[in-house]
Amino acid sequence: MGKTFDIGLERLTGGSEFSIGSGITTKNQGTTKDKDGFVHAGTGIEASQLGGKRSASRGTFFLETFGCQMNDHDSEKVAGVLLSRGYQQVESPESASLILYNTCSIREKAAQKVFSRLGEFGLTPSDGRIIGVLGCVAQQEGKEIFRRAPWVSLVCGSASYSKLPELLEKVEAGNQRVTGLDTDTDETFETPVTRRDNPWRAYLTIIEGCDKACSYCVVPYTRGPERSRASDSILREVRQLADLGYSEVQLLGQTVNSYADPTARKMRFSELLLAVADAPGIRRVRFTTSHPSDFTQDIVDAIDAQPKLCNHVHLPVQSGSTKVLRAMQRTYTREEYLEKIAIIRSAKRPISITTDIIVGFPGETDEDLSETLSLLEAVKYDAMFSFKYSPRPHTPSLKMSDAIPEEEKSRRLGILQEKQREIQTARHSTMIGETFELLVGGKSRRENQWSGHTSCHRVINFSSQEQALLGKYVQVRVTGATPNGLSGEQAP
Ligand code: SAM
Ligand code: SF4
Repeated sequence: MGKTFDIGLERLTGGSEFSIGSGITTKNQGTTKDKDGFVHAGTGIEASQLGGKRSASRGTFFLETFGCQMNDHDSEKVAGVLLSRGYQQVESPESASLILYNTCSIREKAAQKVFSRLGEFGLTPSDGRIIGVLGCVAQQEGKEIFRRAPWVSLVCGSASYSKLPELLEKVEAGNQRVTGLDTDTDETFETPVTRRDNPWRAYLTIIEGCDKACSYCVVPYTRGPERSRASDSILREVRQLADLGYSEVQLLGQTVNSYADPTARKMRFSELLLAVADAPGIRRVRFTTSHPSDFTQDIVDAIDAQPKLCNHVHLPVQSGSTKVLRAMQRTYTREEYLEKIAIIRSAKRPISITTDIIVGFPGETDEDLSETLSLLEAVKYDAMFSFKYSPRPHTPSLKMSDAIPEEEKSRRLGILQEKQREIQTARHSTMIGETFELLVGGKSRRENQWSGHTSCHRVINFSSQEQALLGKYVQVRVTGATPNGLSGEQAP
């Protein structure tokens, strides 16, 4: 139901555009095609033109990413590390000498996908190629991966990415069992070279790990404790990105608004937002994901004061029932969550609100589900990402009684999604005739058809007779609406 919103959750990516950064960024002329058939193009700057140093060619790598935007961005950094070591990226595992999977274990299905990929190599021996598992499944399963897939030689969790160059050195030297599985590191994952997938919108992780302890969630285990990146380092990178032509930056963190500047400056999250928006050349600043408990008035005040701060907040609620929220250890009640919504709704310009919801948590009753449905009605979310509860290893909820059968979870998910569908249908129909500014990010194979994002993070497909719109900001008038999407035409 979150289709109109490109928040990137649940995406399976394998980008084909290249950029190298640390302020230095390259983007190739390759194109990627998204799930709607829109083509996203690079701009064709070479690493060498920008001073990116490459060592002698080492071989080729294939990198596939599963999961959330933080994983997408980690992969951009991993690709940067590999490119700077002299590797070249290829589009298929068959033509790669180094095959890496950056994995997600948030739900069981995501974790299973990786083992099915690895299984493919069991059937065809890896014939000298190096295979590595990175990210959350690596952290969660650890050395067990070597037992299940003996052809894997590198297992590295996200908290150890800063050690990736030395781990790769060991693998390149022929070591068969190389691991990076520490989570007790203070370091955030900053790389001298980052290869960015999108030529206009850049991700920037400002906080790694998570100190919350939601009882269903594997992230604190797989990504380790919360570590915030120094504000001066963030601002330096934003200025470099702006110099390179990026006009939109998206600040990332599992609980992005829990940001705690480790420097003497002690910038608050809202101050950081304003400082990022101040960088010359930056036109839009986004942030995700916000945790309700740390969502404060000053964030909305900042959005009010600075139009470059996008009018969208992703504020996962997970359940509308205080009883379930307690069992989930979400640190707020239904009423407290609604107070946060009231703060957002009191903003001077309308702010779109999106959320995540889990159904079928152990002990959830029909009454609890009704409370979630009434919360949807009360908030009228612009989009919702909904999930069936998936028991995960190392999480407290694994041992909870009153598990809900899969079939019942599916039934509840259906009810929830139908409710949100009604809300979106009504909301979208009121938008016909409105005009939005879009950052154009895609061109359809169909003549004169484009797509772009609004500040409130809606995707709108639109028609225009103009050429070469990619990366530009245009005004688009909405002419059509479905529950899942909007369409329009370029306004004069
Ligand atoms: N840190 C964010 C927050 O606090 O909301 C989100 C992190 S998680 C990557 C994204 C979403 O996955 C969560 O908001 C939650 O709805 C869902 N999720 C996490 N663990 C889950 C589980 N065990 N079963 C089903 N959904 C889960
Ligand atoms: Fe997981 Fe909760 Fe942390 Fe989000 S806040 S990453 S759901 S533990």
